[in-house]
Amino acid sequence: MVLTPAERNRRWRQTHREEWNTYVRNHRATHPNVILAERMNKLKRKVNALRLLGGKCVVCGETDIRILTINHINGGGNKERAVGNGNQRGGQSYYRALLNGKVDKTKLDLRCYNHNLLYEYERGEWWFPKELPTNVAEFPL
Ligand SMILES: [Zn+2]
Repeated sequence: MVLTPAERNRRWRQTHREEWNTYVRNHRATHPNVILAERMNKLKRKVNALRLLGGKCVVCGETDIRILTINHINGGGNKERAVGNGNQRGGQSYYRALLNGKVDKTKLDLRCYNHNLLYEYERGEWWFPKELPTNVAEFPL
């Protein structure tokens, strides 16, 4: 069986885990600009994914990248993260899949964290008695 260079490299890393980890640690310590570039690439990928979904919270219009999150309409996010050879898809790999058209974006919308959490409460994913007021001042004690 002929391995591609990428497969050969992956196998080497798997069988030389300690050596590879030491190399990565040393490389990162001596190349802080590489870490910054990696972080910027990840941030750009996230922003591209957010733009693909409209770039703002569908409820309040919030556009702050730091607090926007992808919402699965009617849930199913955990199930979707487990697709494809059992690989977990979250964060960067999810953004990558979304940008590559491997995720059905019609099942998604963009919300700020507050509105994403409220959406989950309203779906019943988080417990709060429906008959009680949610306002702090109105809550009966
Ligand atoms: Zn919002």
